[in-house]
This record gives sequence, structure tokens and C-alpha cells, in this order.
Amino acid sequence: MWKALNRRRIALASLAVAAGGTSYYLHNTNSTKQRDFQRPSAITPKIFMSETYADANRSILFEKMSDKPHTFWAPPSRKEMLSMLKNSIKDNESVFDVLIIGGGATGAGTALDAATRGLKVALVERDDFAAGTSSRSTKLVHGGVRYLEKAFKELDYEQYKLVREALHERATFLHIAPYLSYPLPIILPIYKWWQLPYFWVGVKAYDFLAGTAGEKLESSYFSTRSKTLEAFPWLKKEKLVGALVYYDGQHNDARMNVALALTAISYGAVVANHVEVVNLLKDENGKVIGAHVRDNLTNEEWDIRSKGVINATGAFTDGIRSMDNPRTEKIVQPSSGVHIVLPNYYSPRKMGLLDPQTSDGRVIFFLPWEGATIAGTTDSPTELTYNPVPKEEEIQWILEEVRRYLSPDIKVRRSDVLSAWSGIRPLVRDPSAKNTSELVRSHMIDVSESNMITISGGKWTTYRNMAKETVDVAIKVLELKPSNDSLTERAKLVGSHGYSNTTFIKIIQQFGIETEIAQHLAQSYGDRAWAVAALSEPTGKRWPVFGQRISPSYPYIEAEVRYAVRREYACTLVDVIARRTRLAFINAQATLESLPRIIDIMSQELGWSPERQTQEFDRAVEFLHTMGLPRQTEKITIDKIRQDSSKPFIREVSPSFHLQFQPEELASFQKVFSDLDKSGEGHIKFVELDKALVILGVSVPEQVLKTIITQINLENNGSIEYGKFLEIMGGVKEYHLSEIAGDDRKIGYKQKRIPIERSSGGV
Ligand SMILES: Cc1cc2nc3c(=O)[nH]c(=O)nc-3n(C[C@H](O)[C@H](O)[C@H](O)COP(=O)(O)OP(=O)(O)OC[C@H]3O[C@@H](n4cnc5c(N)ncnc54)[C@H](O)[C@@H]3O)c2cc1C
Repeated sequence: MWKALNRRRIALASLAVAAGGTSYYLHNTNSTKQRDFQRPSAITPKIFMSETYADANRSILFEKMSDKPHTFWAPPSRKEMLSMLKNSIKDNESVFDVLIIGGGATGAGTALDAATRGLKVALVERDDFAAGTSSRSTKLVHGGVRYLEKAFKELDYEQYKLVREALHERATFLHIAPYLSYPLPIILPIYKWWQLPYFWVGVKAYDFLAGTAGEKLESSYFSTRSKTLEAFPWLKKEKLVGALVYYDGQHNDARMNVALALTAISYGAVVANHVEVVNLLKDENGKVIGAHVRDNLTNEEWDIRSKGVINATGAFTDGIRSMDNPRTEKIVQPSSGVHIVLPNYYSPRKMGLLDPQTSDGRVIFFLPWEGATIAGTTDSPTELTYNPVPKEEEIQWILEEVRRYLSPDIKVRRSDVLSAWSGIRPLVRDPSAKNTSELVRSHMIDVSESNMITISGGKWTTYRNMAKETVDVAIKVLELKPSNDSLTERAKLVGSHGYSNTTFIKIIQQFGIETEIAQHLAQSYGDRAWAVAALSEPTGKRWPVFGQRISPSYPYIEAEVRYAVRREYACTLVDVIARRTRLAFINAQATLESLPRIIDIMSQELGWSPERQTQEFDRAVEFLHTMGLPRQTEKITIDKIRQDSSKPFIREVSPSFHLQFQPEELASFQKVFSDLDKSGEGHIKFVELDKALVILGVSVPEQVLKTIITQINLENNGSIEYGKFLEIMGGVKEYHLSEIAGDDRKIGYKQKRIPIERSSGGV
């Protein structure tokens, strides 16, 4: 992208931008910063903060904490929500103004917008909030530096306006959800001198635009070669000139989605997850007046009546459109984007890296997130599936690109991939456009003959603006009577009102919770972190006093499971592991190991029978397979995990692969190795490796074996030492374990590229 320059055109545009941008900067840096966080807040709904949080753990004298925030709004239970949804057919008074289908970013944002205008709103989500694409994004809240580059390169004003709009929304995010979103510095490494002015102009123009769009973050700056290597010591040093650092936003997408749904509820919306629209209701004139729905947890079915319906089902838009009109043309072109999660040492805690120069012109990035590193991503046309699975070839492509940017002494191994996920971009065509083969650049709002309003496309960052436009259309088409304008630009989300960046310190002092956990709670729940902490179990130790982790290496605690069930509508095991906590996105194996304990807690809360526990467990394991958990031939059971957690593993014999051998496996490797090591000098001949594999009864494709050998850097002397032999066996074992569904290990994988301006939200 940045590589293929049309230098003359760019030079002109760049010069103009540079001059304007620099002068704007000199004048505006302070004033724009001042404006940040100074928006007046919208009036919070009456029910907010009006109820004592009564079920806090009694072992803490919670009510005596008079100087601490201790009253919290408790949302109605799911049962109450369902009964309100069922009431809509009783009389005309109870009919909703709008029924929104889909509880992703777009649907939840639309519900919030409509509710803040005083409309009577219902929302149903067939799975969980953010279960679709909205939990699977890159987590950036951004205008998109690459989109801006494209706008300048092609002198494309529409593209420029989209970036500007997204930058404005970025500022809104930080204002309304300060605990869930935050600025993130991102470095662009520079390997050629001529790139320096080019990138500099790019990032300065980005800053400039953010300033004109309302608020900007910190200014971008040049980082010297040594500073860059200090931040990213593993970066390839050869020919590195330095880097440019610019700022964008990052957030916790699924938790942001849950916060949107909760805030909509706090403004009076009736919202239910695990309720699916199975059909649309129409009046005698053929206009849509509600839907027939099913509770997917109980299979109960009923009708919901509303004046109109908004279809916000993302990649599944066409399913609802064909319920409306079976002859309607499909408008969604699904495209899959894969991310992998690597250990945290691949990125500093608070800085990301983006390199726009992959082998085929796409972007590769390392972004710190939830204590790990997200790397990716890919773009390839895909089938529409409910739980998309990352293909092994896509994971390999990302790893291959990652390796190109690393210093040669760093080996990124397949075993470093702790989790991997695929998200489906709902790229859409505008059905009313003349050229229907063209994909729309951002989002599309369509009103069908039967008045069903469809909102699709766009990106996470712009959900609020999309929602506002959609509700504007709904008000017009359905002749609704809002009591006021949209408040979403100022309405802070639940958790934001009593939050400050010192909340975590007060929580440590009050509860004796570890710093890492207190920070995590404050950044996930905002002021509601108090309520979560109050539910936490004593550890029985002097320090930390409270806060039992659900997985030893991650800051998620058991109290979060209880809180998710009681206050955040978590109904299934997957709701908890994927969208209330984000453990499944961070480490699939660690999640698997924590399932029995989470099931125990959820069973206490929800009274699950042993059959339901097994069902939930099986579904969670199936879900984890879509998050990169290796498929094993043997069926995993709850009891097996409980037993295994008490069994010793022989771990990390060698640093290269994450070896986890059972004692008997290790014994057989030792035996085979020493049988082949005729001289007894601690090494076997390279040619004997095949023999060893045959004796051990393992087969592995030649190409895969070659890759494993390359990754472990064998000495070039024709022999293999025992340590290296174990590394090879670790790689082979991993290969066998990582038989992820859809896996075909093609080497030299190439993907179809999707143009940036159509890539819908990714970087
Ligand atoms: C790989 C990738 C990376 C991305 N990265 C970024 C990024 O960094 N920044 C950014 O701004 N944007 C990003 N995006 C874009 C962003 O994630 C999406 O634009 C956004 O999440 C779409 O939200 P949505 O609500 O429209 O769709 P979804 O989140 O998919 O929600 C639709 C919901 O409708 C529900 N549904 C479907 N049928 C029914 C039915 N019959 N009844 C009830 N409910 C139903 C589904 O279960 C689903 O939950 C990225 C997208 C992808 C794919």
C-alpha cells in the first residue's frame, strides 16, 4: 500500500497537508486537548444509582463504607425483560415504537440512541451481546491512518470525510466510556529514509484531522532508532531508521457492547439476549409490525408487537431481509478476518506496532490488549457461519508475516499462538444504488417496501453515528414521536459516572486485592468494580486478602462470574468466558482448564443440573475449538480436566516449543533417542530423525517437519542433540494437536485482497 507510491501526486497532496497541518498544530495543540473530556454529560436516567446494591457479599461490611460508592443501579432480571416483551401484544399502549433485531455494536447502539430520545424500545439478540462480529474486532477505535492515506492519494473527499467522522467518534468513545477505551500509541517502523517524510506527513495529517473533528489525542512524534528498539527489542534492526509514533484508541469490544446494552436498559429499553427472531409480523397492508421470537434457552415462542422493526444483524442481514421478502437480493459479501494472540512479550504493555508493508501489501500489527498481544490480520472471502473458525493457513500466514519483522534470533513458533479467532465483516452492497456490484464504503441504511429498516456495514468506531442516522430514519418512516433529540454524544455508559483513573487504588485499599486484579476490575467495570470486588471470595491468605483467580496467570476472578450472572445477563458458560471475561480470546487452553470452576459457580447461581453442566461444558469446548484450541482425538470431559489439573506435567524442557509431555511420553523419547545414539555422545544423526519418528509411530508431512526444523534453528553439523530432539517432538506433537477444523496446511498461502476503503473497520 504505502509501497506502491505514485510519488508525484502524493508529494503535492502531502506538501499541502504538511503545511496546513503543521500550522494548525502550532495553534491548536493546547486548545484541542483542553476540550477533551470537557463535554457536559447528558442527564442520567432516574433509575441510575437509585438502588442499594443489596446482594454484595455479606462477609464485607459493605453498607458501612459510607465514603465509598456503594449504591448501584440493578438492571431488571432477564425474566422481567421477557415478561415485558411478552406484554407488547396485550394492548396498544404496550406496543413498542421499535423492535431492534441484533445485539451487536450496531443494534445495542441503536437501542441506546432510541431510548435516550424517549422512545419505547425492544431489542432481541439470538445469542449473546457481541456474540457476532462485535467481540471479534481488532479492538481499535480509529479513523484509520491507511484510509486517510488513501483519501489523499486518490484525492477522495468522501473517504476523507469518513476518516474525519470516525475520528470524531473516537473522541466520543473516550468521553462516554472512559474506563473501557483509552488512547494507544502505535509505532510505524521505518526502514527506508524516503519513508520518513511520507509517514510524517501522514501521521501529522491524521492529528490535524482529529483536531478539526473535535478532539485529538497526543500529537504524533518521531522516535529514534534506539528509542524504537528500546520499546520493541525484538524488531528487525537491519536498516531500521527509526519510527513514527501516532495515537489511536483501543477498547474492550465485547464489554463495551454489554455496557451499551446495559445503558440502553437504564434508559428504559427492554433488552433480551438468547432470543431469536424466527419470523416477521405484518399488518394487512404488508407493513412489518413486529416479530415472532423464540427464547433459545427454553424454546418458548411468542410475538412482539412494535410500530416498526430495525434489522441490525451484521453479517446475517440477508437472513432477516429474506424473512421480509423471500425474493430480495442478497447484499452481504462476508469476508473473514483472523487474529492471533501471542504472549505479552511481543508488545510493550502500552504501545502497539503497525507495519503497513506486508509481503502482499496488507498490514501487520502487534497490539497489546488485556495483557497479551494481538497480531493479524487477514481478509479473505468466506462462507457465512455462526461461529467462524480461523483456518490454519490464515494463522500460518500471520505467523510468517510476524517473523519477517522480527530480529533473526527471535523464533515465533506455532506454539506461541495462545488463541486465534475469526470475525466476519459484513461488507454490503447498497440495494438502491445504480451499480449494485459496488460495496458501500461505510454503512448502508435501507428501508424496504414493508418499512423494515436495515442498517449494515460500518465499523465499531462509528456505531454511534450509524445508530443516530438509523433512528432518524425510523422516526421519519414510522412517524414516531420522540421526546427529545439523541443524547448519545454525551450520555456516559454505565460504570463511567463514578470512575476515575485512581479507582483501582481505592479498591486495593478497601479490599486487599492484587494491583493487577484491581486495575483489571476498574478497566472492565468502571465504578461497578466496587460491586464486583464486594462479591469476591477471601483467599485465606494475608495478601491478597480477596480475589480468587479463575485462571492462575490472568486477572479474571471468580466474583466476575457471579456478577456476570446477576447483573450482566450472562446465561451460558460461553457468555462468561468470551464476552463478560475475555479469557477465551486471550488463552484458549487456560480457559479450558478453568471451565470446571466456572461451571461450579454458575451452577450455584443458576441451579444447573448435572445434565445442563455437561451440555454447557461441551458447548464451551466446541466454542474453544473455534478459538484455536487444538482438537484432540480423545473426548475432553469435566472430570478429565479436574483430574489433569492435579497431575504433574513435565514442562518446558526446552525453551523453543511449549512442551507439555506426559512422563510416559518423555520416557519413550528418551528410550528411542538413546537407542539411536549409538556412540553415547548425546546426539543422533540428522538422517536418523525419520527412523525415530517411525519407531515412535508418529507421522508428519515432510513440509511441516521442515518448518519445525527451521523454527528451532538446528546447528548445521548434521546431528541433533537431545534438547533439540525434544523440541522437534514438541513441534510434531503440536502439529497433531492443532488439527483445527477447516485446517489445510498449504504452504505459500495467498489471500484475495479486499480494498482498504471496503475493509470495514480493520486497520
Ligand atoms: C476482523 C475484523 C476486525 C475489525 N476491527 C475493527 C476495529 O479495529 N475497529 C472498528 O472500528 N471496527 C472493526 N471491525 C468492524 C466491526 O467489528 C463491525 O463493524 C461491528 O462489530 C459490526 O457490528 P454489528 O452489530 O453490525 O454486527 P454483529 O456484531 O455481528 O451483530 C449482529 C448480531 O445480530 C444477531 N442476530 C443475527 N440474526 C438474528 C436473529 N434472527 N434474531 C436475533 N438476533 C440475530 C447476531 O447473533 C449478532 O450478535 C472489524 C471487523 C472485523 C471482521
